[in-house]
Amino acid sequence: IGFENGNLAEGYLPKADFYKVEAILRPWRLSHVTSALIKMGIRGVTVTDVRGFGAQGGSRERQAGSEFCEEAFVVKAKLDIVVSHDQVESVIDTIIDEARTGEIGDGKIFVSPVSDIIRVRTGERGLKAERMAGGRADILSTYTGTNGI
Ligand code: ATP
Ligand code: GLN
Repeated sequence: IGFENGNLAEGYLPKADFYKVEAILRPWRLSHVTSALIKMGIRGVTVTDVRGFGAQGGSRERQAGSEFCEEAFVVKAKLDIVVSHDQVESVIDTIIDEARTGEIGDGKIFVSPVSDIIRVRTGERGLKAERMAGGRADILSTYTGTNGI
């Protein structure tokens, strides 16, 4: 179903107003990624220290020569970014641009629909809760004169 379709949001993701972009990345690329996200107006990001294994295995990045490398997981950084549907592809592009080295272990990005967002302070929901003052939508509407993408 739609694997040939490069546009994830319209290809085979369930339709939603908001999506969570979850990226597992090399920790030392994190500051590059977050700087670029901030520059494009992404103001809400959650970062978690995680460990895991994939094609890279558990040893190469930090345990070369260790007797215990079979058991070692690779330390990674996880970014969770919830954005409106129209911002998903640009967030993904920015993450890839800033995180990619071309070597095994660059990471992976997962995208999933988000049903609602609630701002605890105000009780706002949906788009009102997703929008951030001075965020990407504000920046783009300054340039275009509309609430553009
Ligand atoms: P307020 O205006 O009440 O401060 P806010 O929308 O700015 O609301 P915060 O309360 O500052 O939200 O956010 C708390 C935490 O929630 C942030 O530190 C961040 O980890 C996470 N967060 C906020 N928005 C997002 C988002 N869109 N995607 C991912 N994480 C987010
Ligand atoms: N989409 C929000 C805005 O344009 C920003 C969301 C975010 O920073 N995660 O204001």
